[in-house]
Amino acid sequence: MEKTETSTSNNPGEIPMVGDHLALDLLNTEMRVGNESVDLWRSGEDVHAWLERCGLLASASIAAAEKQTLLRQARELRALARQLIEQWKNGQMGDVQPLNKFLDAYLSAPQVTSDDTGKLSLTRVAKADPVANLLGPVAEAVAQLLTDGELELVKKCAHPECILWFYDRTKSHKRRWCSMASCGNRHKAAQFRKKVGTT
Ligand SMILES: [Zn+2]
Repeated sequence: MEKTETSTSNNPGEIPMVGDHLALDLLNTEMRVGNESVDLWRSGEDVHAWLERCGLLASASIAAAEKQTLLRQARELRALARQLIEQWKNGQMGDVQPLNKFLDAYLSAPQVTSDDTGKLSLTRVAKADPVANLLGPVAEAVAQLLTDGELELVKKCAHPECILWFYDRTKSHKRRWCSMASCGNRHKAAQFRKKVGTT
């Protein structure tokens, strides 16, 4: 991934959130631009910002020193998720032990807190190292997809040059594109060019 780090069009704000499932949005933090694979996580900050966008930063700040660890472990989890999900899609089940390691490190306890008005709410408080707790819900989403997800609804965008994934929650289950605005239109334009015979 190092070679793509200078790419200009990939700040975390542009990470496509088209997966409709946290586990697939995780895979979508890597995308293809032209022929190049682009890692949209270039730093621990990027991972942190992505987690925040996913609504996963309940108790959130982590020390600067931990940002490198966050980046390394997040990439590790993503590679693992990609391998397991692709294997599953191909009718195999890979080794889930490394995933269980992530899950095992995710420790939290329920806690009742009250706000200014005395209203009680139930939250979970991290009990282990901050990085493991930040990535825990993501690992859990991967586990949930592999155990409860419907295989035929886990789809890769139909555009041959796109590597984005999504969970097809449409009623008809006929979703083909990561987004109509990008790949759907790319496809339509290509079909049109074929039809009118231009190149
Ligand atoms: Zn696509």
